[in-house]
Amino acid sequence: DQPAWLAENIYVYGRVNYVNSSMESVLSSLESSGYCDATRGEQVIVEKDSKRKQLPLEFYKFWLDSDVSSLLVFPCHSRIAEHHLVRLRRELVIQDKASCLVAQGFDAQLGWKVVDACASPGNKSMHLISKGIEQHGEAFYHNPIKVIAIDRDKKRFELLNRTIRNCGYESYIDTQKVDFLEWNDKECQGIILDPSCSGSGLIKRNWTDGLDEKGTRPTRLKQLSFFQKKMLRHALCDFPKCCRVTYSTCSIYKEENEMVIYEVLQQVKDLGWKLTRFLPQWPRRGSLDPLNREEAAACVRTDPKLDHTNGFFVACFERTKTPISDKK
Ligand code: SAM
Repeated sequence: DQPAWLAENIYVYGRVNYVNSSMESVLSSLESSGYCDATRGEQVIVEKDSKRKQLPLEFYKFWLDSDVSSLLVFPCHSRIAEHHLVRLRRELVIQDKASCLVAQGFDAQLGWKVVDACASPGNKSMHLISKGIEQHGEAFYHNPIKVIAIDRDKKRFELLNRTIRNCGYESYIDTQKVDFLEWNDKECQGIILDPSCSGSGLIKRNWTDGLDEKGTRPTRLKQLSFFQKKMLRHALCDFPKCCRVTYSTCSIYKEENEMVIYEVLQQVKDLGWKLTRFLPQWPRRGSLDPLNREEAAACVRTDPKLDHTNGFFVACFERTKTPISDKK
């Protein structure tokens, strides 16, 4: 079970929204409202901000994350989520670091069409676009990356649309309320697959991994992993121009992670798919059993005790030749 101190170990993360802002602008707004960049060793004192005086200095510290380029890190009890940059201006989006790893490593090329197969509330879709603007600057606007964000659930689909609109992403993200398993796209080059999972990696104050309410643990895990394999097979087999697919979960169980990858990999090797080393500098990798050493080393895992973020898993599949390029 999750020990109580673990929740205190998880930081709050704010991602700079490059659709309507920039790192410079966010840093300057933060500093003028009393926040201080702890890495610079400076403390900005804003006397006129009354809230500033009621909270200890600790609440006003932040620093730059060293793995995700657009991410600012705030201490666990920070009130940053109430800041006008987050609530009103949406220049800073609260998003857990683990969830940011997908778009950070996806490396979508300019002009690509990327499908986010299980998209709501849209964090990974929005981060992918924001990252494209951050990385390519002016060139992005001449040849933008486009995302099709899909979700089959009515309420989740409404949430997805609301979030995308509120954060200013409508021009880059199209949404569709469909079941990914019954849907296809002949043109997309990339797929982000972040399917429903046990959520067992999520660190919360009143923790439950959501498995016991819905049936016995082994049965529920079996159902989830059956569904996850089906989704991954569809992503890898039925999109002819697709050459990069990420598979991610916020689960710590290998039944939803390495075992899914292992089984599906055996079935799609003939289609040219290989696991590729995702975020090469990241220290924590997938587990051996059932994967071999190279395959395990290709996968990324996060450990809440060491990484100050939720438990997460990412694997990335790539192929250099697609069935369509073979025919040319
Ligand atoms: N990727 C999202 C993000 O980062 O903001 C979180 C996705 S959440 C883990 C999984 C989502 O997948 C849920 O909103 C669920 O409704 C959706 N989903 C589950 N099965 C689906 C399917 N067959 N087709 C489309 N969406 C599905």
